[in-house]
Formats: sequence, C-alpha cells, structure tokens
Amino acid sequence: MDYLISVSFGELTLKGDNRKDFENRIIRKIKKAIESFEIDEFYKEQGKVYIKANREFYKEMIEKIKKVFGIFYICEVLRCKKDICDIEQMTKKLIFDLDIKEKKTFKVFINRVDKKFTPKSPELSKMLGGVVLKNFGNFLKVDVHNPQIHLFVDVKEYVYGYVKRYKGFGGLPIGSSGRGLLLLSGGIDSPVAGFVMGKRGMEIGVIHFHSYPFTSERAEEKVKDLAKILSEYVGKFTMTSINLFPIQKEIASKCPEKEITILGRIFMMKIAEKLAVKQNYNALVTGESLGQVASQTIQGLTVVDKLIDISILRPLIAMDKTEIIDIARTIGTYETSILPFEDCCTVFLPKHPVTKPKIEDITKSLSLLDVDSLIKEAISNKKVYNIKNEQ
Ligand code: ATP
Ligand code: MG
Repeated sequence: MDYLISVSFGELTLKGDNRKDFENRIIRKIKKAIESFEIDEFYKEQGKVYIKANREFYKEMIEKIKKVFGIFYICEVLRCKKDICDIEQMTKKLIFDLDIKEKKTFKVFINRVDKKFTPKSPELSKMLGGVVLKNFGNFLKVDVHNPQIHLFVDVKEYVYGYVKRYKGFGGLPIGSSGRGLLLLSGGIDSPVAGFVMGKRGMEIGVIHFHSYPFTSERAEEKVKDLAKILSEYVGKFTMTSINLFPIQKEIASKCPEKEITILGRIFMMKIAEKLAVKQNYNALVTGESLGQVASQTIQGLTVVDKLIDISILRPLIAMDKTEIIDIARTIGTYETSILPFEDCCTVFLPKHPVTKPKIEDITKSLSLLDVDSLIKEAISNKKVYNIKNEQ
C-alpha cells in the first residue's frame, strides 16, 4: 500500500483536441510546480494525475499544486492492488489515519471505472461500510444523505481510497487563452484582475505607471511585491515601469483641470496599447469596477474604449469591493495592497473630476497636446523587470 497525491482536472465542456491540449498544458504546469521535489512516480490515469514522492513533503507539494489553474481537487490517496483483502485493509487504514475521537457519520462512494471488477459498486460499498462499522462502530455510523466523512474508493488499474479533498481554483491552465497585459497599480483591484484572467488561462504580463519623483521608489517596490505574489499563480513575466509624471505635468498645464484624471488614464491606456501590440499581447486587463470611483463611470469607460483599438478586459467590472477583497485575501495580495504608499493617480487630483466625459471634449483636449511624442518619450524611458517568485 502506498500514499500518493492525486490531482483531478478538466473542464467538462472541453472536447477533442482542446481537451488534449488542456491536459498536456496542465501536466506540464504541475510538473513545473513540483520540480524541486524528487518524484518516484508520475502518471495519468482516467482524468487524474497520480504522483508518488516522499510523503513528508506532500503538504508542501499540495500547496504548490493548488496554485496551478485548471485543477478541481487535490487529494492524498492510498493506493492498493485490485484485491478485496487489500481494499479492506486500505479502508481500515484510511479511517484509522483520521484518528476519530468523537461520534461521526460516514458514507462510502465507489467509482468503479474498471467495469469488469466484481463485486459491483453497491455490494462493494456495503462490504466496505461493514468493515468500517466492524472496526470503528463505537464512533461511526452511516448517513447516506448528509455524511460528515466521505470515503471515496476509485477502482481503476489500481484501487485508490481517500477521505479528504482540497479544492483547486478550477479554470484553465495558463497559456490556453492568449496573452493579456495587466495595468497593475498598487491597489487592491488590479492584482485580483490579473489573477482572475490568469485563472481563465490567460498568460499575464504587467505594465505599471509611477510619477517619480512625486511617487517614491518604495511605492514601486510595493508594486513589484504584488507582481511577485501574482507570479506564484501565473508564472514568471516581465513588468514594464513607465514614468507618467512628464505627461501629467503637460496635461495639467494645457488641459481643463476637471479632465486631468481621465486624460491621464487615456495616456496610460495608449502607452499600454502600444507596448501590447509590440510585445504580442492580445488585450489589456484592468481592475476597473463600475461606479467605484469617478473615473469608472460607464461614460468614462466608453470614452476610453473609443480611443483605444485593442480589447480592454475588465474582469471585475460587476464585482463589489467586498467580493474583490475576498479574492485578494485568498490569493495573498490584500495585505501588501493596503500598505500606504502614494499612487500616481493622486499627483494632480482635480477638485471636481468630470464623471460623464464627452468624447468631443476629450478629443479637443488631446489636440492641445503632442500625444505621439509624449507617448514615445515615456516609452523610451521605460524600465523592465523580470518578475519571478522564488518561493
Ligand atoms: P486598484 O485597486 O487596482 O488601484 P482603483 O480602485 O484604485 O484600482 P483606479 O486607480 O481608478 O482604481 O484604477 C483603475 C485601474 O486602472 C486599475 O485597476 C489598474 O488596472 C489601472 N491603473 C490605475 N493606476 C495605475 C498605475 N499607476 N499603473 C498601472 N495601472 C494603473
Ligand atoms: Mg488605484
């Protein structure tokens, strides 16, 4: 009898070549996630991957595998031969390992993938239920409707038993849905936006805008820290850092005060678009959420859309702040996001920012600026960092 880790994955709707591509990608990602461990066995059997290594490291390995997108469940399983005596022994061991000290209910779930195996599921289930009652009857009784302990037994080439399942994030493996350039600020929302698009299989790269010397180098370090946490999930990427300050000064000196914020955002988007096209990204990704701040009105978003050709994905658009914070906490970015550092958007904050900008007014203001050369200049001064989480 051996302890292994099993990983189940797959979107049920995926078929044919898509499915094969999905599986190959996910297997590569799982292997990468555990590359620092010595692996004794790694094989696929009927929609699940089985991994055998030193059991001492299973907890650590499971934590790493959990971060791979496309995974439903990860379990520690016991594997035995397809032999009734072995299966009974395995069942006893699974329950024994739980170290139960109070009364609980259980149910046996059989998945008989090998249809030639006898006894069939109902008899096998009854038989194993009997084994549990005989050995642990003081504490355990059957409840078929709402059991506290789920005892799963999968009959395949081998037989696998397990009682605990850890949930993965689901989604699709990174690289299966194109490339997105994330506009990452130091706030709560944008790292979450990168995470949720990554979960949908999008490869992520990052662009960040600062306003040095108005914003400090430490503020940029904070954004790099957020990028590193994000890279635990989406893998390594490059972060391009752009100084928006010269552009903001130019806007403030030539355009109406109330439009400073929206014009700054348009420049961010235009610069991001230019970089995205050059670096083969398919879309921009932002953490905007409808109505959250003055610049995130439907009119504001629409004006930006009219001036930008590349797709802008806003995965948080309909989410409440509390929902976004929940995800930020789960993925571990929240604590860093709330560290108090200055943000480039606050450099020239208008007293009454326009909330319903009109495209004619904005185009008129843009015509007062030498947009192309401002953008060119900003890009030529870019800094690029390679982000990789070394955990
Ligand atoms: P966040 O928590 O992500 O900062 P926010 O609620 O503060 O969001 P805004 O500051 O209006 O909202 O920004 C909306 C989106 O614009 C951000 O989610 C991000 O994608 C992008 N953005 C804002 N500021 C920057 C920046 N300095 N660098 C890169 N992208 C930015
Ligand atoms: Mg912000």
